[in-house]
Amino acid sequence: MRWDILAPAITIGSTFVLVALERRFPYTPGQRLLRPGFFTDVIGYGIVQSWILGNTIGWLIGRLDAATGLSRLHLVSAWPMWLQLLFFLVEHDLYIYLFHRWQHHNAFLWRIHEAHHSVKDVDWLAGARSHSLEILTNQTIEFAPMVLLGASPEVVVIKATVDAVWGMWIHSNIDVRTGWLQRIVNGPEMHRWHHAIEITEGGINFSTKLAIWDWLFGTAHLPAHKPAGFGLTDERFPTGYLRQHLYAFRS
Ligand SMILES: [Zn+2]
Ligand SMILES: [Zn+2]
Repeated sequence: MRWDILAPAITIGSTFVLVALERRFPYTPGQRLLRPGFFTDVIGYGIVQSWILGNTIGWLIGRLDAATGLSRLHLVSAWPMWLQLLFFLVEHDLYIYLFHRWQHHNAFLWRIHEAHHSVKDVDWLAGARSHSLEILTNQTIEFAPMVLLGASPEVVVIKATVDAVWGMWIHSNIDVRTGWLQRIVNGPEMHRWHHAIEITEGGINFSTKLAIWDWLFGTAHLPAHKPAGFGLTDERFPTGYLRQHLYAFRS
């Protein structure tokens, strides 16, 4: 299958579907598509940062592989593709739950995470806003094991596509109730609460793809009502890509 064509097609197609669903079933009525920070998030974070970091992380993992030669052992190469995908999906999802939870409880790590919480109009695009150091850390830890253990290149592309679509989904401004499924699969119903202004910095609902971790480790929060708003209580948090980046290093 031509994943080089299919992957961007799925990502762009999902964007249109989610934007249409946001218009039809809004969780927070009145949010605009071209909300404040829209172009910063699309161009600064979504295109420029993703391109630079994608290349940087690819180079870093290449160096790591050249130094260790691990991928030549093909440790998971014989596994069926679905099993490789499932394994790396669950493994990374548990890692990201634990790291994300730590980011909310460690002053230094919070500084590289607060940009992600600064969006006031949480929507399909809000997930793109993440500090480069956060992405550099998380995506190196995500993709290095896949390459070093010899996962199929297709699995790497599929996983990256699932990440992109799922990231848009959990932030989307869609009023969806999935009932018992929300105990297993994460969605906007719980992740929008993670961005709620009244509890953002203390933190609840740290899961990304599988909500299981929150229910298992006692951090799930799913009240019947909706949050009062989204974003940071720190009103000084700046606008614009560069200033948001530098804010992490303030004295
Ligand atoms: Zn968070
Ligand atoms: Zn988020």
